[in-house]
Amino acid sequence: MTLRWRLALVNVIVLLIALLLLAGIVLNQLVHDLYEQLDRELGLIGARELTQVDITADTPRFAPTDRRPPPEMGLAGFIRLIDLQGQITDGWGSYTTVPVLPHALTPPPQGLALNQTGETGLPLRVFTLPILADNQVVGYLQVADTREEIEETLGFVRRSLLIGIPLALLISGLLSLLAARPALRPLTQMTRSAAAISAEALTERLPVPKAKDEVHALALAFNATLDRLAAAFTRQRRFTADASHELRTPVTAILGQAEFGLNRSRTPEAYRAILSRIQSEAERMQRLIGRMLTLARVESGRQLLALSPTDIVPLVETVVDTFQPRAAAKGLNLTLEAPPTLTIVTDADSLTQILINLLENGVTYTDQGGVNLSVKQGADGNGVQLTVGDTGAGIPAQDLPYIFEPFYRGDESRHRSGGGKVGLGLALSYELAQLLGGRLEVTSQAQTGTTFALILPANPEGYRNVA
Ligand code: ADP
Repeated sequence: MTLRWRLALVNVIVLLIALLLLAGIVLNQLVHDLYEQLDRELGLIGARELTQVDITADTPRFAPTDRRPPPEMGLAGFIRLIDLQGQITDGWGSYTTVPVLPHALTPPPQGLALNQTGETGLPLRVFTLPILADNQVVGYLQVADTREEIEETLGFVRRSLLIGIPLALLISGLLSLLAARPALRPLTQMTRSAAAISAEALTERLPVPKAKDEVHALALAFNATLDRLAAAFTRQRRFTADASHELRTPVTAILGQAEFGLNRSRTPEAYRAILSRIQSEAERMQRLIGRMLTLARVESGRQLLALSPTDIVPLVETVVDTFQPRAAAKGLNLTLEAPPTLTIVTDADSLTQILINLLENGVTYTDQGGVNLSVKQGADGNGVQLTVGDTGAGIPAQDLPYIFEPFYRGDESRHRSGGGKVGLGLALSYELAQLLGGRLEVTSQAQTGTTFALILPANPEGYRNVA
């Protein structure tokens, strides 16, 4: 069932319930009011006629007997007297045509009204009053009148409702169907546009309706999703292109070396030199592939963390120590500022990996001065902030927004190409920092130096990828 029909159906059902409730209340009240009025009139006549009953006789009788019938008595109604055994003893009008109901003969002092049908099928309202003598019930007086008019009125109202309610439902259903069409038109349009969007044509966007309603919000949300998807696809394509490019370089080198070795026979030393170059290119490829795989795992959320309370100070010391020889070789001052101990819940391997990447860059891109790693409690007193600052060449402002993207390398890096410099270190560190529930930020000034700040929570609570 389409949304339009469902809306109309809900509308009709709600209206049906409301109308039935209303009809029930109105009918009930009408029946009550009409009968109350009739009963009051019958009660008044009955009370007056009671004064005419001769209670001294053996059986209840009207006195005097030559009295004329009461003025209200038309053809339909009657007044009659009944003795304690339920026998009719006297009356006016068509009083013999209606049987005496046994349960009518226990009326309360103020009277009892019942519906009865006369022999001719005439609907009657029969009002019974006890006849009292010295506080003793000596018989009963019944006043009856037709309730034809009441039944007619009620019948008319019932018939009107019986026709009116379905008619109202039909009209309301049709109107809802008609009204829903323009309201849902933007959705139909959006469905069509959305169907036309594919991975290849991700530049298309849904038309956003002007009215600021749910459909407007849906279109905006959908378009925002498309923006993110398009960006992700672009990143993916660029990643593949860059990765192929990076892999081609060592493969070309390996093939070149192999060809060089094969084109004529050489001395064992020459072969060894060729094989050693091939080995170092293959190692470069292995490192590259390893980093790509880690990045892919981290990005797809498949990298599992082994979270445990870790004193990060010894961990940081070890990493700094590993870089001391390289720093010394370049004449750089590699320093560490840290409290005696600082424990957070984290994944030691991932944290080590990030710090290695940052120190590696610091040492690589700094030619004089030094690199400093400082460990502090986080700004909010919770968690930790690790800062790697150097006095190197700095990162040009136009490069800053891109350095966390895979394979992005500054000119500096390209010139120094060699080792593991493929532009994946910061991308991986950035993703790992997020995986640890924290973030990696950079500030840099040309000619002055670069500072990376790794901010980690005391506990990456609620993180999905926990081993
Ligand atoms: P790479 O393998 O090229 O070092 P990274 O992802 O680690 O790749 O870094 C990306 C780029 O960011 C580098 O090519 C370099 O241009 C720049 N960069 C990173 N760290 C520093 C730093 N400490 N000083 C200056 N430039 C840096």
